[in-house]
Amino acid sequence: MTPRIVVVASPSEIRAACDAARSRGASVGFVPTMGALHEGHLALAREARRRAGFVAASIFVNPTQFGPNEDFTRYPRDLEGDVAKLAGAGVDVLFAPTPAEMYPPGDSTRVRVEGVTAPLEGTFRPTHFEGVATVVAKLFAAVGPCVAVFGRKDYQQLLVVRRMARDLLLPVEIVGHPIVREADGLALSSRNAYLSAEERARALAIVRGLHAAALRFEAGERDPRALEQAARASIEPAATSVDYVEARDAETLAPLTAVADRAVLAVACRVGTTRLIDNVVLGEDPPPLRPV
Ligand code: AMP
Repeated sequence: MTPRIVVVASPSEIRAACDAARSRGASVGFVPTMGALHEGHLALAREARRRAGFVAASIFVNPTQFGPNEDFTRYPRDLEGDVAKLAGAGVDVLFAPTPAEMYPPGDSTRVRVEGVTAPLEGTFRPTHFEGVATVVAKLFAAVGPCVAVFGRKDYQQLLVVRRMARDLLLPVEIVGHPIVREADGLALSSRNAYLSAEERARALAIVRGLHAAALRFEAGERDPRALEQAARASIEPAATSVDYVEARDAETLAPLTAVADRAVLAVACRVGTTRLIDNVVLGEDPPPLRPV
């Protein structure tokens, strides 16, 4: 039998569904997404299922987190396929609002998180995290989750959401889920659909670079520049352009002169016209390529 899932479009409907679950004594888990769902998203949904009695997901391609020359209008959309996948992962209710529902006429409030938003993505997508923080705050207000699951694929986003929830005293636990990868190591992403076969093969240089750096870290290398260089040596020849390959403090994203026991090594680059991001937390994640 196909599991049941309810799909709602308005903030009042998702609030009513989550209130009803709470009144039955269930805790509410939440997984926000932009749709075009893959196994990475579904792993988040299953994690929420383990942690909460009632699971809500959202699909909303949020216009305010896209820059003017980014892929908002052509971002992949497949609501019907997504609903079936979420039902299979045990999601109880899907919130799929329109932009007008999330940004009512005259909307003029934005959530701005400072500090952790500045480096890495903040340098290349200066308005991105304000859009993310604003929409996540609105989604949290509608759903009222006690736990929300985010992927470490968007590592900086996870830190931004944690900081926002803490600073705004939101009563929600933010859980970070490890990156889900294809068998060959490429991090799953809705944007991988943009890659041609040749570009997809080239994109593997990203995970090979992160793997090489992780091996150097395991061998005792603690110079962040040397670890970055180990990743760059693989990524630069394959990528069309590189935005950053940087080792930073895993908690604050502050720059490092030496790595102590943990650091995030984060990459953003273009392969063809597709912008891809990936990372490894040195001192925590295993080297990302599986032994063959
Ligand atoms: P998106 O639909 O791209 O906005 O992503 C929705 C959520 O899924 C975010 O918390 C992402 O970090 C997470 N996510 C996307 N891809 C992956 C992946 N390969 N592994 C783990 N989490 C992911």
